[in-house]
Amino acid sequence: MNEMMEKRKRVLEVRRYYNTVIKPSLGLDDAHTDIEDPRVAEMIMDRFGVEIPPDTLHNMLIGDFTISIERALEDLKTSGLLHLQYRALKVLLEDETPEVFFCAGCGVYFSTEVEHSEYDGHTFCSECMETEFSTCSECGELFHNSDIIVAQNGENYCPECAEQFLYYCNECGEYTTEDDMVWDENGYHHICSSCFGAYYYRCEECGSFIHYNDDYYEEDGYYYCENCYEDAVVIHGYNYQPAHLNFHGDGNRFLGVELEVDDGGECTYNAREIIDLIGSHHAYIKHDGSLNDGFEIVSHPATLDYHMREIDWEGVLQELKHLDYVSHDAGTCGLHVHLNRGGFGDTEEEQDLGIAKVLYFFERHWSKIVKFSRRTRSQLDEWAARYLDDEPSHPEDVLEYAKDDASRYRCVNLCNHSTVELRVFRGTLVYETFMATLQFADLMYDIAELSLEEVMDLTWDSFKEMGSKYKEFTSYMERRGL
Ligand SMILES: [Zn+2]
Ligand SMILES: [Zn+2]
Ligand SMILES: [Zn+2]
Ligand SMILES: [Zn+2]
Repeated sequence: MNEMMEKRKRVLEVRRYYNTVIKPSLGLDDAHTDIEDPRVAEMIMDRFGVEIPPDTLHNMLIGDFTISIERALEDLKTSGLLHLQYRALKVLLEDETPEVFFCAGCGVYFSTEVEHSEYDGHTFCSECMETEFSTCSECGELFHNSDIIVAQNGENYCPECAEQFLYYCNECGEYTTEDDMVWDENGYHHICSSCFGAYYYRCEECGSFIHYNDDYYEEDGYYYCENCYEDAVVIHGYNYQPAHLNFHGDGNRFLGVELEVDDGGECTYNAREIIDLIGSHHAYIKHDGSLNDGFEIVSHPATLDYHMREIDWEGVLQELKHLDYVSHDAGTCGLHVHLNRGGFGDTEEEQDLGIAKVLYFFERHWSKIVKFSRRTRSQLDEWAARYLDDEPSHPEDVLEYAKDDASRYRCVNLCNHSTVELRVFRGTLVYETFMATLQFADLMYDIAELSLEEVMDLTWDSFKEMGSKYKEFTSYMERRGL
């Protein structure tokens, strides 16, 4: 006990002498390298008559000597001894100091009698082994938590087992077992199933992933990528709009045709046959709720010339007949022709004036047009009623009247944003009739170019004369006694 008190006293003396004499006189810092300066040992030797090695001197200078030996020895076996207390203990006990390990987990010294383990060049006390380590669920080995990868299902994996058994989800940055991964059709891309459920669809056709932010199409509860959609779905929903319209032919007078056919089946096989024949760049097919068992063939906008020369309408109509479809005879079917507003002029004013002339022409020659359309009066009332009951005195009166009417079921439907739709015609599978109808529609662009006076004076015979440039139109008019 006395010996210990002597030692403590000596430590305090050395410390004071170092701080008040040696350090100022040699101009030293507290750095360990300064303590190694040979002049320090010399001065201590001169003053105290003993040789103190630099390490011991350092411990003397920084050690916490307030702790009792008994307490320090007790702590080494229980809660661990703090760093500066351990330094003091080494000075006081010298060779008698128990063997210790430094726990890299809790940062204190323990007697080697305390249970401990080595990991990656470090030693850990048993308590830290318990709190800072986890067992790899694959290989059963203990790994420090900083090395453990926690999979999405909560299981722990060592780096090696993770490499072997887990998959990384690029979407959420988590690791998942193979069972929780979703793979695309070619087995290349994978996403964890929760990310898949939250952000992705799978293309019904090619099986590739479609992010919900990307372009995709939904049809009857199935999803399609942009590439597959056009090919996979032949009969589109009623509200389908193609991603982009193809405009065929030169100039600005385009005609978009909607031909309804019925009673031959709303069947994909037939629809595909028709699309293959007409060309998917020319037309697409839609469901139409007004039909019993058929579909609607919708053309992309094309000039009359293009419809006549480049689209095989004759072949299409023939094939439809061959597949047992009907159009005229169904009673349910119409042949609608869209004229683009741009064909009536560049400005909205020009367009409105041109359209007013067309409406005027319809009102003025209504009974002839009804005959041309092959509709019955009752069909017309339901699907394509005229606007006025009396002949208007001026074309601009017709436009005002028509624009106020929001009903779509009008002979000339003005509700579309960019087209004027002629809805008056009954469906047909007869090529001459079909083409005469398109020619009739195109003649409306000609009528729009006449002056107001010319339109008001236009007789049915002069209209016939305007259309005499078309073989089908002329022959149809004759056939119908028009
Ligand atoms: Zn520890
Ligand atoms: Zn493992
Ligand atoms: Zn994920
Ligand atoms: Zn696809």
